[in-house]
Order: sequence, then structure tokens, then C-alpha cells
Amino acid sequence: MSELLERMHAVQARVKAACERSGRSGDSVCLIAVSKTKPLENILELYQDGQRVFGENKVQEMCAKHESAPEDISWHLIGHLQRNKVKYMADFVTMIHSVDSVRLAETISKEAQKHGRTIPVLVEVNVAGEESKFGVSPEETLSLVEQIAPLPGITIRGLMTIAPFVKDPEENRPVFRTLKQLSVDINAKNINNVNMCELSMGMTNDFEVAIEEGATFVRVGTAIFGARDYSIS
Ligand SMILES: *Cc1c(COP(=O)(O)O)cnc(C)c1O
Repeated sequence: MSELLERMHAVQARVKAACERSGRSGDSVCLIAVSKTKPLENILELYQDGQRVFGENKVQEMCAKHESAPEDISWHLIGHLQRNKVKYMADFVTMIHSVDSVRLAETISKEAQKHGRTIPVLVEVNVAGEESKFGVSPEETLSLVEQIAPLPGITIRGLMTIAPFVKDPEENRPVFRTLKQLSVDINAKNINNVNMCELSMGMTNDFEVAIEEGATFVRVGTAIFGARDYSIS
């Protein structure tokens, strides 16, 4: 078996074990294989093995891969998104994880309607308040959700966060717990067109802790594909 498939199966086993530890069913967590900077061949190899859900952080790269890959792959846009790029993926993107402004949500709404679609989105929250990160603060989240909820062509499905890079994943447990609590609080407001059922949190270094704290999407790149080499792209 290839190293890629071995790593993939190891990650799948760790997801399953984390679900069991926390009394959750295995199908309550969706593993997004984050294929950014990695070639289409890697995606196709995982596809042959049954993986259907992939994540990219650049629109152009996602579009290029989407054009050459099988139709039934689900593409998740997980990275920071510029409004002028939305139009390129509005006809196929499965979910956008990085909505952090009214203006971006309005653009997604407009482009989705052009294609007769409703695009599921998540609101990105900068839980730890890191300056380098995108996303709204926990305090601003409810207000953003209320403002974008009425927009046609989008449906708010939950929250996303990128936790800080830490040595010990336990350090991020409070971050994940805060995001979960925020989603519970917002759900309790019963806002029309808002169903906070998804929590996108957890990456290579901390996805097991995120699952224990309620993640429904984990976004895993390095543990599946190996280290990224930005120098060649
Ligand atoms: C790259 C990326 C990931 C995956 O990171 P790894 O640490 O390689 O698992 C997850 N989420 C986002 C938003 C990313 O940009």
C-alpha cells in the first residue's frame, strides 16, 4: 500500500477512536482531506479508496482540481475568501467555511442565486483573538449571523475556527469548547434560516481534541498528505 493510503487509514482510525472515546457515532464526524498544494493524482488515489470530501484554501486551485476530478467529489472552501473570487466556484462549491463579513455573505448570496443554488456556509470565528487570523470575534458572531441570515441563496450551517498552533493539543481544548458553546447559544435564539448543526474545527495537530469537543468537520492536511512544499508551486 502507498504511504498516502497508509497515512489516510491511520487518520481515519484516529477519527474513529476519538469518536468512540467521546461516545459519538463514527458518521457524526466528516473528515475533510485538505489537498491544498498537493497534485490531482493524490486526490484521485484517495478517491479510488473511497474518500469524497476535499478541502482547498485557494479558489483558483480548487477550480482547477474540480475541473479534472470526478463529479461526485464534495469541495469545501476552507481558506480566507476574496469577494471577487466567489463567482468562479459558486456553481459547484459544497460549503464555504470562511464567511466573516456581511459583504462577503452578500456576494455569495448573489452568485448562488445566479446558479439557482443555496450555498451552505459557516461563519469563521477567531476564538483565540490572534491578530494574524481572519474571522469575527466571539462577541461579534451573533450580530453577523443575524445580519446575513435573511439573505437568499445562502444557509448558515454553523461555525468554523482555526485554532492557534500549539505544541500540546490540549491547549486548544478551551478554544473548541468556546466555539461549541457559542453555537449552542446562537442556536437557542431560533433565528430563521440558521441551523447551527456544524462545527468545523480541528486540524492535523489537534483534530482528536476537537472531536472530543464536538467537531462535525475536521480539516486534515499534513497528517494525510505529508508536509506541504510551498517552494515548488
Ligand atoms: C491548511 C489548512 C488546514 C489543514 O492543516 P494541517 O495542519 O495540514 O492539517 C485546515 N484548515 C485550514 C483553514 C487550512 O488552511
